[in-house]
Amino acid sequence: MKGKIALEEHFGIPSFGEYASDLAAGLDQTIMRERLLDVTGRRLREMDEHGIELAVLSLTAQGAQAEPDAKRAVERAREANDFLAQEIVAKHPERFAGFASVALQDPIAAGDELKRAVTQLGFKGAMVNGYSNVVDRDTGEYYDLPKFFPFWERVETVGVPVYLHPRDPLPSQQLIYEGHPALLGPAWAWGVETATHALRLILGGVFDRFPGVNVILGHMGEMLPFAISRVEQRVAAFPETSKLRRPVSRYLQDNFYITTSGNFRTQALLNTMLEVGCDRILFAVDYPYEEMGTASGWFDSCPISEADRRKIGRTNAARLLKLDVPD
Ligand code: ZN
Repeated sequence: MKGKIALEEHFGIPSFGEYASDLAAGLDQTIMRERLLDVTGRRLREMDEHGIELAVLSLTAQGAQAEPDAKRAVERAREANDFLAQEIVAKHPERFAGFASVALQDPIAAGDELKRAVTQLGFKGAMVNGYSNVVDRDTGEYYDLPKFFPFWERVETVGVPVYLHPRDPLPSQQLIYEGHPALLGPAWAWGVETATHALRLILGGVFDRFPGVNVILGHMGEMLPFAISRVEQRVAAFPETSKLRRPVSRYLQDNFYITTSGNFRTQALLNTMLEVGCDRILFAVDYPYEEMGTASGWFDSCPISEADRRKIGRTNAARLLKLDVPD
């Protein structure tokens, strides 16, 4: 399919190496680094080759979320956004758009930066890499806490989505992975971590307070479409869920978008279509950690209707991100 819009595509900035996670575990670090820093070479060539018209770029994890000093995190997020806007998007506005980095260590400043990034830099939303570190690298905060409500309020007002990207659980909370480092990172731990964070947002009432907020989940919904029915059934008995205005699965359908990043599996896509509908699914690769050829080869030929392929590959993203592109 030509004209695809891809939503979880990462870039790097050399001076942000201190915030790099173990994203490339098992992959060639040198190649990943080269591809993160490259924009106009191999990246654009591959986009052309595989029918990707526009890539919405985001700073590779863990970015601003890993800076425990709130003031510095705010400054560095701003620096990353200026780089993306000036050095990449402004030079190739037809091929690249931006998701902003925001430092949730300071929820008010994060909201201000989101607004600046959208209104002044033309960004299409924000990407956050899981919890934000506070104080040190083994302390974190999840965004269902009331202190983050001003940020979500700003997200709703600005009217752009927030992509909740994975990161590993806090170092002190990785006992279950001990002796099995293969299960940390993208294979398993990220999915559990991110799905749990998304459920915290639902149970924490974020979408009841701010029903216009849209959160994007990658990797075919971080396992939630498969699990949501059981979650809904089992949380219903707990007092904390009695105040929720909708059944848990409705929040997944109404307040989330789900991308195909790194999960190029027809069975998983069909399950996601059945749970949330094809209007809320978006194409993504997760470049450079995944190959554009693998993602596109699968997506372009997977057995769904051409109308659904068009929605997932292009028009849903154009609508959600308010892109000025033809259908
Ligand atoms: Zn990613």
